[in-house]
Amino acid sequence: MDMSATIGVRPEPIRRVTKIYTAFLLAVFALSPAALIAYLYFFQDPTLKFDNHLFHEIAIAAATLEGLFITYVSWRCYRSSGEPMLRWLTLGFLGFTLIYAPHGVFTGMAHHNIWLFLLYGPASRFAMAILLLIGLLSFNLEPDTPEQRVNPRSWLLWVAVFLLIDIAVAIVAYSPIAGSPAVRLTMEGGALFFSALNITIMLAGRIRSPLMTIFGISIALFGLSSLAFILGRPWNHMWWLAHAIFAGGFFFLSYGIIQAFHTTRSFSNIYNQEEMVNCLAMSMVRTENALQELKHSNQMLEHLASTDPLTGASNRRHFIELVDAEIARAKRDNLSFSLLALDLDNFKAINDHYGHQVGDEVLQGFVQKCMEEIRPYDGVARMGGEEFMILLPLATLEVAMAIGERIRSATESTAFTSVAVPKVILTVSIGVSQFGHDGNTIDTIFRAADERLYRAKNHGRNCVVTT
Ligand code: GH3
Ligand code: MG
Ligand code: MG
Repeated sequence: MDMSATIGVRPEPIRRVTKIYTAFLLAVFALSPAALIAYLYFFQDPTLKFDNHLFHEIAIAAATLEGLFITYVSWRCYRSSGEPMLRWLTLGFLGFTLIYAPHGVFTGMAHHNIWLFLLYGPASRFAMAILLLIGLLSFNLEPDTPEQRVNPRSWLLWVAVFLLIDIAVAIVAYSPIAGSPAVRLTMEGGALFFSALNITIMLAGRIRSPLMTIFGISIALFGLSSLAFILGRPWNHMWWLAHAIFAGGFFFLSYGIIQAFHTTRSFSNIYNQEEMVNCLAMSMVRTENALQELKHSNQMLEHLASTDPLTGASNRRHFIELVDAEIARAKRDNLSFSLLALDLDNFKAINDHYGHQVGDEVLQGFVQKCMEEIRPYDGVARMGGEEFMILLPLATLEVAMAIGERIRSATESTAFTSVAVPKVILTVSIGVSQFGHDGNTIDTIFRAADERLYRAKNHGRNCVVTT
């Protein structure tokens, strides 16, 4: 995984080159309609016309429906995230749609009052360019409150503003100034100016999340379409091309809105792919670490739940599990095993003489001694107080007795030392039982071992009893 971008290592030259190349590609893509505009401007006869009202009406009906749809999707995004930028984008789409619609409605009027037909286009693009610029300036502002988002009053106010603009355009179209090129040029040139300003601010602010890249390219297309409208005349090829460029920008921006709708419903909280890959890698590392910790603490818990905290031997519960498993194995494979029941002799006296603390140390030392004397696969358990049991898999009574004897004599000959008392002499009594020979349930073999332990005590302690 290439983490150089996040951990501050100097990036490879190829990364820088490809980044510059990416920026170049985006610029080429955004400006590509300029080549078509130049082609028509220099090589095409500007008097060639495609004067088709029906086609125009259908195209504008489609644009209006598309405009309403994307207005709705933007509004849904705004309602979720409350981002002021999305509020202005929604208003931009809504304003464009409401002001542009009469341009289609009045297509039939084109030959009666050309201005009534013609002025709605530039007016709608002008209004949208301003609203989108305000949108950009609102990028990353604090979200609106949930109440603000659903307040219908401000939306209705804006609808009224757009309808007033429609009426104002109609008034201008019937006024003497309608034919003055200044009117159309002011609006179309204004749209071009605000689009250019929008892109300049984006570039200066180095705003380059994926959705904002789509936003920027769309604005560039809107600007170029205004340029083509300025250079075109109604119904000629440049005029139609201007429509197509504008539609391209509109579709591309809608694409961005849909992306937002399907992800975070926000324009500022969308990561780019590189950031996402890095985030993913980091969270995978975190998850992996957490899993390891969990595994470790589970093992600790398992250990704690199955061992005696003082001596580290198995506890009673765990020992019974081990014996149960051994019984199952012995039955399945027709094998045997043995048990030792151990009880320290006169342990109370050790406590009484040296104190409980020394008694504890002796218990620990005794378990240590047992561990040394048994085989690696045997298990020692503290059943309570100074009573222990040892499980001896695959051992017959004779083998178990030999091991018991080893433990007994090692205990007797060991001076269990402690900080407080250098030498504590200890002995142990042991009862032995064998699975199969003394029964084949846990109760019977435990009882047999206990009875023999009791007998060992009665025989004067410090001995191993097998019968
Ligand atoms: P016997 O030879 O008959 O087994 O005599 P005993 O004194 O060992 O037997 P008894 O059952 O009378 O006493 C067991 C003693 O073990 C009593 C108790 O204080 C001590 N003991 C039990 N658990 C612990 C422990 O965790 N630490 C210490 N230091 N002593 C313990
Ligand atoms: Mg006891
Ligand atoms: Mg005892």
